[in-house]
Amino acid sequence: MSVSPGTAKELLARLVAFDTTSANSNIPLIAFVESYLAGHGIASQRVPTPDGAKASLFATIGPAGVGGFALSGHTDVVPVRGQTWDTDPFTLSERDGKLYGRGSCDMKGFLACVLAMVPQFKQRRLKVPLHIAFSYDEEVGCTGVRPMIAELGRTLPRPRMVFVGEPTEMSVVSAHKGPVRWRVEVTGRAAHSSMPHYGVNAIAYASALIGELLRMETDLKADAEDRRFDPPWTTLQVTQIEGGTASNIVPVPCWFGWEIRGLPGFDPMRLDARLRAFAAEKCLPEMRRVAEEANIDITAINRVAAFTADAASGIVPLTLKLAEQNATFAVSYCTEAGLFQEGGAPAIVCGPGHIAQAHTANEFIRVAELEKCLAFLDRLASWAEA
Ligand SMILES: [Zn+2]
Repeated sequence: MSVSPGTAKELLARLVAFDTTSANSNIPLIAFVESYLAGHGIASQRVPTPDGAKASLFATIGPAGVGGFALSGHTDVVPVRGQTWDTDPFTLSERDGKLYGRGSCDMKGFLACVLAMVPQFKQRRLKVPLHIAFSYDEEVGCTGVRPMIAELGRTLPRPRMVFVGEPTEMSVVSAHKGPVRWRVEVTGRAAHSSMPHYGVNAIAYASALIGELLRMETDLKADAEDRRFDPPWTTLQVTQIEGGTASNIVPVPCWFGWEIRGLPGFDPMRLDARLRAFAAEKCLPEMRRVAEEANIDITAINRVAAFTADAASGIVPLTLKLAEQNATFAVSYCTEAGLFQEGGAPAIVCGPGHIAQAHTANEFIRVAELEKCLAFLDRLASWAEA
């Protein structure tokens, strides 16, 4: 039984029309999905934020109480601000076999395929359940999925396997790096810039800290390699910086942001410790000789676990079979797969669309990608039936 992409296209148009930029509420979209599922006799459960402005949605098709397979995706999209689009980003438009719209590729195309398959899933005599797990706030550090993962095995069933449908052109991604981000705030003391010895220059000490980070970066390149990745090492970079108040004042404030994207198995806190030791030994004593209030504050603001598919779970051979592929890939961007796996639910990444179209102006997904995804889901349903 194959499913034509017509229903998926219609559903994708509905989903794209909700402006679920991460800064906005995703509740209207969640309410739409809830009523769509209810229309097919399927109850869903929300995992809301404390203020109720956003929610994840979890629903089960088939028998309750046994592991089963979860189909997971995020409902939020990146902003269109500053991008020049040829069409309205929140109106799906089709041209030359491509469907244009914000989130069409990342990753409402996958959500639409899952929803389009619901009537099919319902008809099957599923021996194990298929779960739908839609999250929010993936694009702002994979934060929204965490409360839902915390409920797996508690108020929600723990799936035996989780398919994360981020765009891979339906190839099988079995590993990704894990990003960690820090904010470093350096506080100095003001002085007339003609008398710098009465002040503490926050920008100068921020530069010293950044110098240490650059040395770490050099060490990382020389470190362990994992040829599955491009680049094959753990990367480190300074991503943001701001400091100073005027051209004739020794600068008091300077902050900068830095990140690493660690290979699976890499311990990011090793570098956190190295930077803290450098600050404590090489910077602070000197700064405080002039100004006791001088300070360096290093805060890890976000961490997503790196991911390698769990070999014991059997998820890799199964996904290769369902996707009709014979090799797995590793990617440098991150997904919710690492978090699911950390939460005790073996995960894999496989979804329609190409990552190159994600986050761009004129984002699109090919209709052919939706067809491939529907065929994958159809084979998954057969597997769950057998
Ligand atoms: Zn995504």
